[in-house]
Amino acid sequence: MPKQNQYLELENIAKSFGNFHALRDINLSIAEGEFVCFLGPSGCGKTTLLRIIAGLESQDQGRISQAGKNISWLPPIKRDYGIVFQSYALFPNLSIAENVAYGLVNRGQSRASTKARVEELLTLAGLPTSGNKFPSQLSGGQQQRIALARALATSPGLLLLDEPLSALDALERVRLRSEIRQLQQRLGVTTIMVTHDQEEALTMADRIVVMNQGEIEQIGTPQQVYLQPSSPFVASFVGKVNILRGTSLGDGRFRIGKLDFSCESRVDHVPAGGPVKVYLRPEDFVARDAENRTHNNAMAEVLKIEFLGAFSYLTVALEGMEQQPVLASMSLNLLKELRLKVGSKVLYGLLPERIRVYCDQDG
Ligand code: ATP
Repeated sequence: MPKQNQYLELENIAKSFGNFHALRDINLSIAEGEFVCFLGPSGCGKTTLLRIIAGLESQDQGRISQAGKNISWLPPIKRDYGIVFQSYALFPNLSIAENVAYGLVNRGQSRASTKARVEELLTLAGLPTSGNKFPSQLSGGQQQRIALARALATSPGLLLLDEPLSALDALERVRLRSEIRQLQQRLGVTTIMVTHDQEEALTMADRIVVMNQGEIEQIGTPQQVYLQPSSPFVASFVGKVNILRGTSLGDGRFRIGKLDFSCESRVDHVPAGGPVKVYLRPEDFVARDAENRTHNNAMAEVLKIEFLGAFSYLTVALEGMEQQPVLASMSLNLLKELRLKVGSKVLYGLLPERIRVYCDQDG
């Protein structure tokens, strides 16, 4: 587990490009050893924030401190971090060993200690015998491992990763995800990774900072962000979600079409009669035994089955709200047990603790 000392603190960071507000009022504390992901759609400002932390971009206002030191206006060279970019950015005319040694040589380290450190880093990167090769002789994944080794060469206090996996093929991406995470945990280096890939953030981060239009929408563990999204934006950006239009009946009850439901986790209080948007994830629909029929249940007709291996997505029309078909997930085993196919009928229950209801601003 990460230690709880606050290592990096951002206070009231703001940045505009001309009239465009790229970042507004960013406040964030990152603990020593933490792995934090900045997650958000294209253009939300995550790379700009990372570049401000690195000193590659200057903030218009706000304060940054690292290890208790105010670094707000320090040039990049005076800051203590290693950085990895999406495009590997290795020097093509230098050997792999020379690439990794780059920062050490710049700091005037002796040849012997540089050689030993490079060997150590190449082993850490899983490429102990590649020192004499050149970047063009390595695969994308291998180049990114070397870029990581180069960023870690001087044992920086902070590791910054700007979409480091997005140029790789799917298999390499998944492999490198766990390699980076294991390495980060072993070294205990405080790390920030920019990504627009929710799966990457959910699997790798201690905490996720969800950003939208230059602002932080939510900061939380992957579970908090997924299970208790603070806004409709977070609920729909992280994970799949059904957004259903309904009406509040007051007291945590609401109606969609002709069906009445109750929920435990109301997010917005909407008075009876007010329009609501009900957010339900595919796994919040639980296929139930007809005998266990209580409240929050409805019969459904299967309209479509998308087979995805271990589980499937079923598009179903719940009786009473046929106008709004929903996506429900089901494990392969249950699908086989219930022998469901298109046109089958199945009883679904909704988990009251998982239903999230927001005021429908457009309703
Ligand atoms: P992406 O995943 O597409 O890189 P992002 O969340 O990292 O998105 P940023 O690169 O931080 O987004 O950019 C945020 C906004 O600021 C974008 O609208 C971008 O066009 C704008 N922007 C970034 N850098 C500059 C610049 N130097 N001059 C003008 N506008 C900029």
